[in-house]
Amino acid sequence: MTGTMMHQPLTISSLITHAGRYHGGTEVVSVETTGGVTRSTWGEIEANARKLASALEKLGVKPGERCGTIAWNNRRHLEVYFGVAGAGMVCHTINPRLFPEQLIYIINHAEDQVLFLDKTFVPLAAKLSEHLKSVKHVIYMGPRDEELAGMVDGLLFYDELIAAEGNDYVWPDLDETAPSSMCYTSGTTGHPKGVQYTHRSTVLHTLGGNQPDGMGLSATDTILAVVPMFHANAWGVPYVAASVGCKIVLPGPNLDGESLVGLIDSEKVTMALGVPTIWMGLLAALEKTGSKIESLERTVVGGSALPTVMIPAFAKYGVELIHAWGMTETSPLGTLNQLLQKHDDLSDAEKAAIRVGQGRVPYGVELRLMDEQGKVLPEDGKTQGDLQIRGHWIVESYFRADGSALTMDGWFDTGDVATIDPDGYMIIRDRSKDIIKSGGEWISTVELEDIAMTHEGVASAAAIAAKHPKWDERPVLCVVKGAGADLDEAAVLAFYTGKIASWQVPDKVIFVDELPLGATGKVLKNKLRDMYGDVLLDDAS
Ligand code: AMP
Repeated sequence: MTGTMMHQPLTISSLITHAGRYHGGTEVVSVETTGGVTRSTWGEIEANARKLASALEKLGVKPGERCGTIAWNNRRHLEVYFGVAGAGMVCHTINPRLFPEQLIYIINHAEDQVLFLDKTFVPLAAKLSEHLKSVKHVIYMGPRDEELAGMVDGLLFYDELIAAEGNDYVWPDLDETAPSSMCYTSGTTGHPKGVQYTHRSTVLHTLGGNQPDGMGLSATDTILAVVPMFHANAWGVPYVAASVGCKIVLPGPNLDGESLVGLIDSEKVTMALGVPTIWMGLLAALEKTGSKIESLERTVVGGSALPTVMIPAFAKYGVELIHAWGMTETSPLGTLNQLLQKHDDLSDAEKAAIRVGQGRVPYGVELRLMDEQGKVLPEDGKTQGDLQIRGHWIVESYFRADGSALTMDGWFDTGDVATIDPDGYMIIRDRSKDIIKSGGEWISTVELEDIAMTHEGVASAAAIAAKHPKWDERPVLCVVKGAGADLDEAAVLAFYTGKIASWQVPDKVIFVDELPLGATGKVLKNKLRDMYGDVLLDDAS
């Protein structure tokens, strides 16, 4: 038996149709890869997305087939997001920072039919092209350019494709469970794995993630999407922005602090989203430029743990930090950190202590903690366990993989180790493969790094488990010194006194010029373990 209400499929075309129809005049500002800023509107984005959909159909791309993108955050990329998915094809965003072999693997595994490229990445694609088996059309995201045409046989030009189309394309009716977009995980071992989102999962993620206690975006905001559109759907920002019709600023390739400060001030940005390293760069640029970023009200910070020092550093500028946690497999929003009514009377420091954690789930997902024997653990804020998640926008299986990605009872194991308190606030303690097990007790690398980062002489730090003859594993801290800092091992170790138990203090500090970073800007701990995992054995011998 069914009820008596309309049934309308939850599709991505419905999001862009809404933005075009009810917020058609609202601005979309785009920093172009070739330089300069272009200003368009949601109305133009919607019209161009339909033209693109029509052009792709004429090129012979079929529903369900993948169209890859290698591009920065810009206006055409936004049109591709909606045009490809709206037509029933799958928008496969590709992380350009992956190694060439990984790019080749991903494009072939996804069987991408089309490749959309920004200028930066045309030479890369030209180099890979002989290895790409499925790609039938390469489209440069710009106007005709003879120099680029000489690099890739049969190169098509985005602006020409759009210009050849009329305004009469009508979005097709789609099943809401059809695939709409795809991202590959940037796993540090083994092949990357594809996560294919559906129209339904994307729309529910948009509605769930943007509640007032989540991202809380409205039509009155101007939002700066620093989080790349090639990583985890840019945290869903393009879809959320379309659903509320807010002004959106796409920063292109220049993500240094000074460029971002310039954009925030010139476009009067109220809300920005990005990873902690981006905001560290922004803070340094504020010191340098003297800007007070007066328009900026809040930022969403996620992708790796929020350093404690950042909350007061941004509070100085009147900016609220919303810490979020998620994964490619979770669309990506899993938790966002906002306070409850019962916290109203807390001091700023007490509020900051809550907000430095990863926060609570929005409606639509649930969390639980498990021990190694598969027993559900208490949510008392102290007991650590494997973090599992389920909900409307969580992966069920990887693209073209045999079998389910879930536990027997239907949860996804995140690979993170966490605690959850009785109010549902979750704190990531570590990745399960990074956590240090010293004499049977766990030491959180996240905590060791967070403390080190509060030392003014430390620019960045990463803690790893090093093998130990007596305790199995002991912490070793790799430190990049700040410019001109006069710092030695004893000073770093002394800094831990009184902040953690003495048995948790690292056994050794290694000063390095830089930390190895993966394609999404996260520290490659496995590489550090390869380099320094035996240092304590070497010391002992
Ligand atoms: P990815 O799929 O590349 O986005 O990576 C997801 C992983 O990043 C998670 O499983 C976490 O280990 C880590 N991560 C994401 N957000 C946070 C956060 N706010 N704090 C700590 N770790 C995070």
